[in-house]
Amino acid sequence: MAFNLERLRDEFPILTREVNGQRLAYLDSAASAQKPLAVIKAESDFYQHGYAAVHRGIHTLSAEATTAMENVRTQAARFLNAASPEEIVFVRGTTEGINLVANSFGSANVGPGDNIVISEMEHHANIVPWQMLAQRVGAEIRVIPLTAAGTLDVSSLTTLIDARTRLLAVTHVSNVLGTVNPVADIIAQAKAAGVVTVVDGAQAVMHEPVDVQALGCDFYLFSGHKLYGPTGIGVLWGRKALLDVMPPWEGGGSMIGTVSLPQGTTWAAAPWRFEAGTPNTGGIIALGAALSWFEALGWEAIQQREEVLMRYALTQLATVPDLRLYGPQTRVGVIAFNLGKHHAYDVGSFLDQYGIAIRTGHHCAMPLMAHYQVPAMCRASLALYNTEEEVDRLVAGLIRIHRLLGA
Ligand code: PMP
Repeated sequence: MAFNLERLRDEFPILTREVNGQRLAYLDSAASAQKPLAVIKAESDFYQHGYAAVHRGIHTLSAEATTAMENVRTQAARFLNAASPEEIVFVRGTTEGINLVANSFGSANVGPGDNIVISEMEHHANIVPWQMLAQRVGAEIRVIPLTAAGTLDVSSLTTLIDARTRLLAVTHVSNVLGTVNPVADIIAQAKAAGVVTVVDGAQAVMHEPVDVQALGCDFYLFSGHKLYGPTGIGVLWGRKALLDVMPPWEGGGSMIGTVSLPQGTTWAAAPWRFEAGTPNTGGIIALGAALSWFEALGWEAIQQREEVLMRYALTQLATVPDLRLYGPQTRVGVIAFNLGKHHAYDVGSFLDQYGIAIRTGHHCAMPLMAHYQVPAMCRASLALYNTEEEVDRLVAGLIRIHRLLGA
């Protein structure tokens, strides 16, 4: 069943804002999505009526907050079809989750002469932690190349993966090209060689249902703020058998069994072993609200609407002279482009004058920029609250810039 776009937009107060004298057209949701009232209210209600530190507290508010937080763990487990809530680790976001895997699993399992396979289209969050690990332990980074069509050359895996491959980390959806990678195939190939797999789901979870058990990966990550939730909170899903034997990576309160001096501290069970310190409880509760809000829309309606708007945007953008699009025809969420020879920053600044917010720059994917031999790209993202009229404004804006500046 389709949802009512006008009513949905009413749930996002920020969309009525004016920017530079024009109604805001927010086309930057892949960087961070705007938040519905349900999310804003959940976080505010918690601080107004339910706030207390979680864990260890015997008093009512602490117990309530702990229950609320653990309920979101259950909710996140259901969202990813995890086998149990104990497979959900709360992290600051995708970046922190990947660093956790690199520092905990990676440090314990990757050694000199081993290799880690990533791809050419990764976000820096799924490159740099692996490079740091490789440098620390003397391992090698191997790269799945891009095809001319903007997809991954999966056939390269037969030579990239060998007996020394310990990890394969790949993005589910490219944050620049919108490519949906065949992660199930990639995981199956890695698994057949006994390689542990990490999937960066930061750009995927808002576009398609994810079933980590069906995918067969070992770790999956996403950030709350791209899924209409708050910043500072994300989810690392890890297979229980792995989490159970992984060492902690940050020490402190809440992650211990017992502490004694001078040595002899023991660890809490997973996932709490990986959650040192006071958590972002307000963020966790608001993430729960975001998941509820999002799931209530229904996948069928979400995907139908996204497909329609993406098709419309691609058709309309094709009318802009000297516009170069990057990425495959079939994509989700984002459209990366450059206009003639103009630097993306110039195009983005002009569009901002018209109240249109897009992202410009290297999109934390410098290797991808190098592949296309450009310093930067413009990227428009399409979210559930975006309209055809906003796409028209983007297209009209680009045509105007082309007319003003030439090719
Ligand atoms: N991976 C991808 C594909 C992303 O798009 C992003 C965010 N731009 C990240 C990882 C990092 O997410 P976060 O900044 O929320 O940790």
